[in-house]
Amino acid sequence: MLRELILEAPGKLLMRTPRSESRPLQAHELRVSTLYGGICGSDLKVYEGHMAHAVYPVRPGHELLAVVTEVGDDATSFAPGDRVVIIPNTFCGECDQCRRGQTNICCNKQSLGINVPGGFADEWVVASKYAVPVPEAVPDRVAVLVEPFAVAVHAMQKVQICEGDEVLVSGCGTEGALCALVASARGAHVTVTDIQPDRLRWIHSILPNVHPITPDQVADDSFAVVVEAAGARASVESAFAAVAPGGIILGVGMAVEAAIPMQRFVRKEATLYGSIIYVYDDFAQALAWLNRDCELAAKLEACIGAEVSLDAFEEAYSHALSGKPGKALLKF
Ligand SMILES: [Zn+2]
Ligand SMILES: [Zn+2]
Repeated sequence: MLRELILEAPGKLLMRTPRSESRPLQAHELRVSTLYGGICGSDLKVYEGHMAHAVYPVRPGHELLAVVTEVGDDATSFAPGDRVVIIPNTFCGECDQCRRGQTNICCNKQSLGINVPGGFADEWVVASKYAVPVPEAVPDRVAVLVEPFAVAVHAMQKVQICEGDEVLVSGCGTEGALCALVASARGAHVTVTDIQPDRLRWIHSILPNVHPITPDQVADDSFAVVVEAAGARASVESAFAAVAPGGIILGVGMAVEAAIPMQRFVRKEATLYGSIIYVYDDFAQALAWLNRDCELAAKLEACIGAEVSLDAFEEAYSHALSGKPGKALLKF
């Protein structure tokens, strides 16, 4: 019996037999069967009713590894049996941003599992332009993490990291950990900070080369790059103190607002970037990198905190909701 998860309303998550996915494929579509799904902070915001653009009922799931089961007439670069990761944010290809290649900020963007059906289902249909083939050597449990990893890959491309650069990552959730992973793989000397000691211990167990410190130990004017991944006002504001003169602050966290100390910012001639999700190339590059660097792939896989079968989905959500470090995975 085919299964899918449905979030009927905030807090009301259930499993059911899907209703509509056995329709014939359009030419550009693929039918896929999810193998693994990851649960992240935005899923929890939708679950808790804290995501302004969420619609209910919605099928959750945007961190997805799937296998192709059927191919539409025009999707001939794919074949049944191919493993694919899914780009879970749509892009129109026609707006100004899309035409500049910035499909991540498409003004017609929709997000799987938030305002269009996601991929926590045994069988579903996706346009082939959102499917990215997974190289054979990349294991399932690594491939399913490519979506959050691509966020970090995209963000870290805003800055040129050189060997030995001092990089501070503020906030050690999954996205902070992945930015630290990318920065240290590029040769930076990475310091991480978080208000939760268990997160610092967790990230240090995965990345023994990073230097974990508490927020009060962060020295002023010391970091060529500060990655703000906590999404908290205090973390944003302290980034302006921590950044070295001429340095860069990279915002990936989602604090609602914070005060910018303009004199400090201007006098340091610092740069502030925002970075949101990824484009197709970030997925392709992330997969190619993981394909040739097993050590990187192993560290990414080590970010998994729990793996639970789909039938026990409540356990996976409660792991994620507990705030325990490490990604919760659903195995289909
Ligand atoms: Zn996510
Ligand atoms: Zn667009």
